[in-house]
Amino acid sequence: MQERLHKGESLQVTYDTNDFAHEVIARCQTLARFSEAPGSIRRTFLSEPMRECHREIAGWVSPLGVTARVDAAGNLRMLYPGALSGAPRLMMGSHLDTVPDAGAYDGVLGVVLPLALLGALGGRRFPFAIEVVGFSEEEGVRFGTPFIGSRALVGSLDEDVIERRDTQGISIRKAIENFGLDPAGIPQAAIGEDVLGYLEFHIEQGPVLEKAHQSLGVVVAIAGQSRLEFTFSGHANHAGTTPMNLRHDALAGAAEWICAVESYAQTAPGLVATVGAIHAKPGATNVIAGDARVSLDVRQRDDKTRAVAVDYLVQLAEDIATRRSLKVKSSVLLNQRAVPMDHFLVSQIEKAITSVAGEPYRMVSGAGHDAMIRAAKVPAAMIFLRTPGGISHDPAESVEVDDVAKAIDSGLQLLQQLASSSEFRRKTGHA
Ligand SMILES: [Zn+2]
Repeated sequence: MQERLHKGESLQVTYDTNDFAHEVIARCQTLARFSEAPGSIRRTFLSEPMRECHREIAGWVSPLGVTARVDAAGNLRMLYPGALSGAPRLMMGSHLDTVPDAGAYDGVLGVVLPLALLGALGGRRFPFAIEVVGFSEEEGVRFGTPFIGSRALVGSLDEDVIERRDTQGISIRKAIENFGLDPAGIPQAAIGEDVLGYLEFHIEQGPVLEKAHQSLGVVVAIAGQSRLEFTFSGHANHAGTTPMNLRHDALAGAAEWICAVESYAQTAPGLVATVGAIHAKPGATNVIAGDARVSLDVRQRDDKTRAVAVDYLVQLAEDIATRRSLKVKSSVLLNQRAVPMDHFLVSQIEKAITSVAGEPYRMVSGAGHDAMIRAAKVPAAMIFLRTPGGISHDPAESVEVDDVAKAIDSGLQLLQQLASSSEFRRKTGHA
């Protein structure tokens, strides 16, 4: 076993990173057992398995002198005190909920890994406290609305949102009450002015780091997203009696456009565009489709470039429809701005990774994360871990022990850097 001994100027702690890395992976596997679905991983907002998950994690942090509590939005909150009482907080965390038939690491890794950092500190305190948060909800599975936990923390979990119901007719409010929590306490779950920043470790959930032979990535921005729906309309008619030159086939028009979307995105740097859903009406083998409803998802780091791309793809749909004597209507379902990560934290992460794992790999996250919501209120940054095979949201999701070890080393280095940085020293009153 390779032993890394971390000897910082002021962090006189020795530890075996590989032991911690193995423990992180084992703990993610342990939490994977708390599931609503026998034989697979599924853990949604404030379900009973989520309660078991909280209980298990609380047992892990108690020997560190850390008490775990659950706030009114169901987030698991664990405060590792600073050197002085009332010290400002650095937050770290990710989500504990999962998609159906999930893997063991999406979200969970970002809760368990910071606990390893606390363990490796061996009781050492910083001028700031460290609060590790296991968010109650990020995936949007149970209520069709994502980031419930994160939104509560930034004070944007509005009244109308908590009245949303799941398929059983249970509202978010009721789910909170059923868990034994008081929804009236949600405003108190919000963070105040004493939060210095938010740091999230997360698996990349894509193939980029693996392709680049990199363990870790520094996220510089979370891509903006447009989601639209297009309906191509023609005339439904008999598949046997309507000659090819007299058809107004909505599905063929949509198909031509789908291929054009793909070709366009292949030549547009940094842009991804996807048509992931299609619904043809009437949807029968022997009937020419009269209507074809298709989705469009466009993501880019730069909001202007994304807007230009969306305009172009809408125009392309209209051109194809006109040429085929079809009609097309489009509507925008989501227009979410790109979220840049905090410059200072990104540069500190780069420095930390450089000192333990070599050249840092800068990248844009194509997926939304809790850090995106947090960035509205506090400086936020993310570290991605290589995802073998790029496989995620799947039971085959995995991480490499060595990558986890590098993430732990980088995290400890980062904490030490932050503690001695003039930026944090000023904010913690140690200037
Ligand atoms: Zn996630």
